[in-house]
Amino acid sequence: MNSLKCPQCRGVYIVKNGHAHTGKQRYLCRACTYQSTLNHIRPSISAEKVELVDRLLSERISHRGICRVVGVSRTWFRRYLQSLIQTVPHRSDPQEVVFSKG
Ligand SMILES: [Zn+2]
Repeated sequence: MNSLKCPQCRGVYIVKNGHAHTGKQRYLCRACTYQSTLNHIRPSISAEKVELVDRLLSERISHRGICRVVGVSRTWFRRYLQSLIQTVPHRSDPQEVVFSKG
């Protein structure tokens, strides 16, 4: 088994997310929505910001307020919420690639 980890947050919930124009498999981290072909690292939302978003979400603050306070775009925020919904494990998804630690 591969041991893919998100280069951003070290999360292990990495899902396949289509292909780059080069034909390379692209991956999406469910924890921080970081997208990568896993050999090309681009700055994205920091893990600290993601944690802050999580905390604010549990405080029932408006989404717009969260974006303003944390300094993330609404686009990112929507994608993040979507990834949270998808993370709820109800059944195994053939598209899903979950790698264990190590
Ligand atoms: Zn991540």
